[in-house]
Amino acid sequence: MDRIVEIEKFSLDESYENSLRPSNFDSYIGQEKIKKNLNIFISAAKKRAECLDHILFSGPAGLGKTTLANIIACEMGTNIKTTAAPMIEKSGDLAAILTNLNEKDVLFIDEIHRLSPAIEEVLYPAMEDFRLDIIIGSGPAAQTIKIDLPQFTLIGATTRAGMLSNPLRDRFGMQFRLEFYKDSELALIIQKAAVKLHKNCDEKAALEIAKRSRSTPRIALRLLKRVRDFAEVNDENIISEKRAIEALNSLGVNELGFDAMDLKYLELLTASKQRPIGLASIAAALSEDENTVEEVIEPYLLANGYIKRTAKGRIASEKSYRILNLNYERTLFDE
Ligand code: ADP
Repeated sequence: MDRIVEIEKFSLDESYENSLRPSNFDSYIGQEKIKKNLNIFISAAKKRAECLDHILFSGPAGLGKTTLANIIACEMGTNIKTTAAPMIEKSGDLAAILTNLNEKDVLFIDEIHRLSPAIEEVLYPAMEDFRLDIIIGSGPAAQTIKIDLPQFTLIGATTRAGMLSNPLRDRFGMQFRLEFYKDSELALIIQKAAVKLHKNCDEKAALEIAKRSRSTPRIALRLLKRVRDFAEVNDENIISEKRAIEALNSLGVNELGFDAMDLKYLELLTASKQRPIGLASIAAALSEDENTVEEVIEPYLLANGYIKRTAKGRIASEKSYRILNLNYERTLFDE
């Protein structure tokens, strides 16, 4: 089976997301420092007619890592092949992907922290010397065959930079951490996307959606899509603040962008007072898997100081008690 997943339109949601994906740096809002640096490195590589060095993007899901990889390929005038680490099970899978690349192609590997050590070993010479070392046979009779590969740029994306092995991380010449977006940046992303969806979005409405999007473009676009449905059934071409608030409230997304799962999470932590709760217990209580808790629910809560992570587990901060209208001081005396 060909394990290379080209950016295809798997489902309606995927094609919707792709259609709203910016195709150049000008339409990619925010992350200014990263854009500025990338622009310099891309111009330099193009001037030397060389391949761009390998790049690692880290940061929570939905912040624009895949989008940046596509823009880079576009700016370099090359093709991009996209895959995800869990799809590369055997070293042969990676060998097939690498030998199918053309000169200067971009290979995008999502969730790169999930590559197995054996696959990483195959990747090292490929990244460093554009060479594939294939071992045939085992024991003393084993032989290594070396295959030259075209020069390519590996772009890795990860939500868990800490889980990457040091040798792999060190082989990326450029490493960027994406930041959560400001509400004003998200509002702009929302307004531009609304135009692509043949609607106008009022400035105040865009800001209202932005405030409830957990500082994440993917969530902002998802909410915009739902708000647009509300405007649609009311025969409105302009998305108004009133309609946005009505839609967001009926979706159960509160003023802080918390949905039912976030609130359940915070209620769980605050109920344990100041005693830390471990990840496994939280996941079991929420009927979610640990990865979802760590990669989807927690990053925003941590970045905004709603929770703290200690060696023994998670603790809710004073801010969480306040938004749930609970008395934080009482919990200190209960200790
Ligand atoms: P990630 O790979 O980090 O999970 P994606 O690149 O898939 O995130 O982005 C999710 C969605 O958000 C995409 O539809 C993309 O169009 C949009 N998006 C992300 N970052 C930006 C940005 N800076 N400007 C405009 N749209 C963005």
